[in-house]
Amino acid sequence: MKKHNFSAGPCILPESVLQKASKAVVNFNNDDLSLIEISHRSEPFVEVIEKARSLALEHLNLQDKGYTALFLQGGASSQFLMTAYNFLNKKAAYLNTGTWSTKAIKEAKLFGDLIEVASSKDKNFNYIPKEYTIPNDVDYFHCTSNNTIFGTQMMSFPDTSVPVICDMSSDIFSRQLDFSEFDLIYAGAQKNMGPAGATLVVIKDEFLNKICREVPSMLNYKTHSEKDSMFNTPPVFSVYVSMLTLEWLKDLGGIDFIEGVNQQKADLLYAEIDRNPLFRGLVENEDRSNMNATFVLENEQLTAKFDAMWKEARINGLGGHRSVGGYRASMYNALPLYSVQALVDVMKELERIA
Ligand SMILES: *Cc1c(COP(=O)(O)O)cnc(C)c1O
Repeated sequence: MKKHNFSAGPCILPESVLQKASKAVVNFNNDDLSLIEISHRSEPFVEVIEKARSLALEHLNLQDKGYTALFLQGGASSQFLMTAYNFLNKKAAYLNTGTWSTKAIKEAKLFGDLIEVASSKDKNFNYIPKEYTIPNDVDYFHCTSNNTIFGTQMMSFPDTSVPVICDMSSDIFSRQLDFSEFDLIYAGAQKNMGPAGATLVVIKDEFLNKICREVPSMLNYKTHSEKDSMFNTPPVFSVYVSMLTLEWLKDLGGIDFIEGVNQQKADLLYAEIDRNPLFRGLVENEDRSNMNATFVLENEQLTAKFDAMWKEARINGLGGHRSVGGYRASMYNALPLYSVQALVDVMKELERIA
């Protein structure tokens, strides 16, 4: 039996996807060749990447709306610099909600002036700043929709006339948003879509015209867009598994369906964190992430006991990020509700015996 996998990333993928993926590594499409030993320009693989690109747009309701989906390499971390390299001409505005935004800001500073419109650093990023203004003379506004490490999530996005770039690495395809409000969305595959190695970039075609300087080919969005995400060898395995996950999501009923399940999972866990006197949540209630829940034990002396209990219950990946401590339960799309129930049962049991 598979463990209850709360890992923050790389993270849980649907069992059926793993089965199909492992089969494709040995014998893809019953053609007696492995997926990872055929040409990326062969028809079977071109079909895979085209399907993955179109499913991504379909899920985001951006098909036929002037957007392109790309599968690039270098992780979301490369997008920190790529976005700025391509679009930061003079000045850009950033919202700082945690480690990932901080890293994005550091890279962007190499390319132009930065305005940090707000930051929640004063409280170790345990909330999402809401009162801020975005100047209308900036090249773009950059934000992180879900703060994977501290466990906060943006519930709404600012109404602004400037282009919006969003790092959605850890909550893409988990909830409905009006994705057409964004000019560029990026997400490392390994949080909610597939294995590490691919980064999904969804870009508004019009925005490509705003590339503001000469950019080396590999770092230029136009290169990848013009070549249908095939300028160089794409990360074939990661793209294939991402396609399988996007198909899995479509069969389930898409974001509309999974958002409801994600809400149930988060409600179940946060209710226990709030009810159980042994535990305390780490972030402001209104900003709690449905993907990554962070919490601590009120009495640290129970740590060894609790850790032994959840491991005994075959729970994996519950340790908090090294910069936060405590616990973090990541509840991405593929995590079943019964896994959250298993964790809640352990929390209740700890209360009973403590
Ligand atoms: C994990 C993560 C990243 C970094 O992704 P890499 O693919 O490791 O570069 C960036 N942003 C967010 C929000 C993340 O969760």
